[in-house]
Amino acid sequence: MWVERESGTGTPEVGNCSPCGPGLSTSGNSAAPRDLETSPTTVVRRKRSLLRKAALLALVILGVLEVLWFLAPPPPSAVERVYSRGVYPVLTEVTASLGDLITIPLGASVIIVAGLVVPRTAYRLLRMARSGMPPRPRRFRRWTRRVAIAAILIYGLFIVFWGANYRRLPVETQLGLDQEPITAERLRALAEFLLLSIVRDLPRPEARQRERAEEAVRISFEDWLRRQLGRSAPRLPQRVKTVPPGLLLTFGTSGMLIPIFNEPVVDAGLSDTARLATAAHEWAHAAGFAGEADADAIGILVGLQAPDPYARYACALTAFYACAAALSGDDRTELIAALPEVARDDLRQARNASLRYKRSWLSSLQRGLHDAYLRSQGVSAGVQDYSRAITLLVRAHAAGYLVLRDV
Ligand SMILES: [Zn+2]
Repeated sequence: MWVERESGTGTPEVGNCSPCGPGLSTSGNSAAPRDLETSPTTVVRRKRSLLRKAALLALVILGVLEVLWFLAPPPPSAVERVYSRGVYPVLTEVTASLGDLITIPLGASVIIVAGLVVPRTAYRLLRMARSGMPPRPRRFRRWTRRVAIAAILIYGLFIVFWGANYRRLPVETQLGLDQEPITAERLRALAEFLLLSIVRDLPRPEARQRERAEEAVRISFEDWLRRQLGRSAPRLPQRVKTVPPGLLLTFGTSGMLIPIFNEPVVDAGLSDTARLATAAHEWAHAAGFAGEADADAIGILVGLQAPDPYARYACALTAFYACAAALSGDDRTELIAALPEVARDDLRQARNASLRYKRSWLSSLQRGLHDAYLRSQGVSAGVQDYSRAITLLVRAHAAGYLVLRDV
């Protein structure tokens, strides 16, 4: 408001009154205020003030809705029906189409710029606050207001364009999986099935075409989503984009889905085999499976049906390793020893590629932030939710969702 006062005194506009204006029909003393009220500058100011009030009201309403979403979210069945199978598929028609127009990772670029700007802004605010408000209280208030507006808008966009999927029905409910305990026998049964898939689809060196395999994972996703959801299937981006080697791996992360843009990205430093399994995980996120365990399990389940042996092999190997890790020492050693040498070599390469870039302290920091983020979205186990993926896969296997693809 004070800006308006500074930008004009109103005096010059009195002389600019239109000669045929209604105020001229009366005497001079009463005409001047009326002319002021109807002068173009005053009308523009009023409109601007009204717009500002409307924007403020909209922002307050949005903020209240966000707090309500956070504190008292609607039941998962309602979110599933209205959002995940209603609003979200429509929105993906827009986000996927726009994302496919450009090959560079646009969302990732925005995050990188934000990653540079946010700490700088936070530092400036902190410095202003520590200097004891005066001598620049207006500046401090302006920056605080900007940060608050940006936070409300970004969180609102995040929820609307993807984040609401965190509150949908879990995969167990969607697929009707059992709730039986996970025993060593059930884990072994899954591991033996995956070993069968690994041995059968073990790709010859000339058959390892990562791009073709990645495309096969996407095709498999489209088929699966169509069968599961019919017309409610979301539209997937055509490709998983890459960020420079190490950009994510330094933080101990292989890939991510950039919310709002709905853009799946993977680190270019990954080994090909690890990259395929990561791409399947990110496509599952893009399909609306927000939870980490849900995305892991759906990525593997769908990847195992991909029309390319290398894609199936990569997904089976990743799940096999996680399954073996969940078993006790002797069982684990025995299972890993049963792998073909080529598969053990692939696991080594995947591990070496990750370790090449990983910085422990950044990885710990990222893990802590990710844990807080997941809990804020209703994933009560935080990063521990990743381990639920094997539970889901064991139950999906028992329910007949994991089958060898006919070749
Ligand atoms: Zn994920």
